[in-house]
Amino acid sequence: MHIDCLQAYGDSQLAVRQLNGQYAVRNATLVPYHERAKYLMSQFQDIHVSHIPRSENDRADALANLAASLTLPSERDIQITVGERHLLSPAIERIEEVVDSNVITSSECEEEPDDLDWRHPIIEYLLLGKLPNDSRKKAEVRRRATRFLYLNDTLYKRSFDGMLLRCLSKQDATKALHDTHAGTCGAHQAGPKLSNQLKRLGYYWPTMVRDSIKFATTCKDCQLHGDFIHQPPQQLHPTTLSWPFEAWGLDVIGMIKPKSSRQHQYILAATDYFSKWAEAIPLKEVRADDVTNFIRNHIIYRYGVPSKIISDNALYFKCKSMTKLCEKYKFQHSFSASYNPSSNGQAEAFNKVLCNILKKMVSGNKRDWHERLPEALWAYRTTIRNSTGCTPYNLVFGSEAVLPLEVQLPSLRVASQLTNPDENANVRLAELEALDEKRLAAQQRLEIYQAQVAGAFNRKVKFRSFSIGDLVLTVRRPFVITRKMHGKFEPKWEGPYVITKVFSKGAYELSNSEGKCIYPCVNGKFVKMF
Ligand SMILES: [Zn+2]
Repeated sequence: MHIDCLQAYGDSQLAVRQLNGQYAVRNATLVPYHERAKYLMSQFQDIHVSHIPRSENDRADALANLAASLTLPSERDIQITVGERHLLSPAIERIEEVVDSNVITSSECEEEPDDLDWRHPIIEYLLLGKLPNDSRKKAEVRRRATRFLYLNDTLYKRSFDGMLLRCLSKQDATKALHDTHAGTCGAHQAGPKLSNQLKRLGYYWPTMVRDSIKFATTCKDCQLHGDFIHQPPQQLHPTTLSWPFEAWGLDVIGMIKPKSSRQHQYILAATDYFSKWAEAIPLKEVRADDVTNFIRNHIIYRYGVPSKIISDNALYFKCKSMTKLCEKYKFQHSFSASYNPSSNGQAEAFNKVLCNILKKMVSGNKRDWHERLPEALWAYRTTIRNSTGCTPYNLVFGSEAVLPLEVQLPSLRVASQLTNPDENANVRLAELEALDEKRLAAQQRLEIYQAQVAGAFNRKVKFRSFSIGDLVLTVRRPFVITRKMHGKFEPKWEGPYVITKVFSKGAYELSNSEGKCIYPCVNGKFVKMF
């Protein structure tokens, strides 16, 4: 305002005498204020500070009233802030300025040009009543300013619960975000919690919720330790087959604890995709030879050469002897997209059923399960499967198996077999003729069932797809996380990797930053954006 001479009045006799040099400043907390006042006084050519009794200090009050009524008629408490803003800045800020007394503006203002600082229009309006030229902004500033308060060179926002939130510039906001999320007491909160925490600490800036969410999602530690994503990223692609023993799903159950009395700890199982017929053997360990022998002895020699065998990516399925077997018998061996048991669903479902049956059959010490396995298989084969509406036995042989109970308490068919063998042969032939029809019905039912399962699955799908060049994280291997897995603090995700190939049905090839392929085929379910 270019004022050179100033007559100032104060109602504190102590402060006035200290400024006039009559009293020394003894109180350490007052020193910064004194220094600041001295500095400001040196800006004038001629300045006099005189004492005035508090009761007579109504000019200053009136001035403050006037300033406030001009800017914000409804908000009376702002008047004090305007009147006193140069007298009562927080001591700590002033100390900083005393150290570098050439700097007049407060430290925050230097950080960025005023037109970029969101606080600037509001401060200007609160202090000087100045509004931006743009009419839309004008209304916005006027509306927003009612919630703000300019106190001690600092802009505050009044929160809805009455707290004063310090308004931060962009740079300070970034620092506050970092310190609150990952600093000394940062708990790596998620976005909304982080913004709440910042509010509780008494900070505010207009985009704090959005910034908090963004900050929390981009925090590397949070990403590496993030929870698994359970929503499937792609729709289910069920395999439908029309004939028994056309395709088998192969899987290993284990390790099973306790070991059997013969030291078995795995079950190698195969399930026919159509009839749900299952074969299984106990194994001490799973070697490639065990797998090929099982396929030869339990599948090919009993049910003929299948057209397809589906398994996961385990090493004992992916070996030379297996490839040789495939070439010899000309069947196809396909791998369900790695680490995706649901597309290998057949075998998985059987595992569950078999284990459930076995659990209830085994004796007290549970070490005779290998002996109970054939019994459990038998029980499984003669029970109606939901997906086909038939027992596997019926779909394979065309009639129901004769169960021990039927012999003890002869059922009609067992009784007629004994009394009238000729008739029985005719019935059996008719049954075989009806088998085709039964299988067709089962196939239809299977298709409906798969559509239902796929429907339920696809409802949960939240499409996630990635394209070549995307930076992603993937779930760390092995991801069988048990209580015994040492390293509770190990991250769940690893990376970042680059997507170098996109396969159909949502599988990806991942490479590291040097372009070296790390995972040749990963299901999209286990990948997330970095
Ligand atoms: Zn974090």
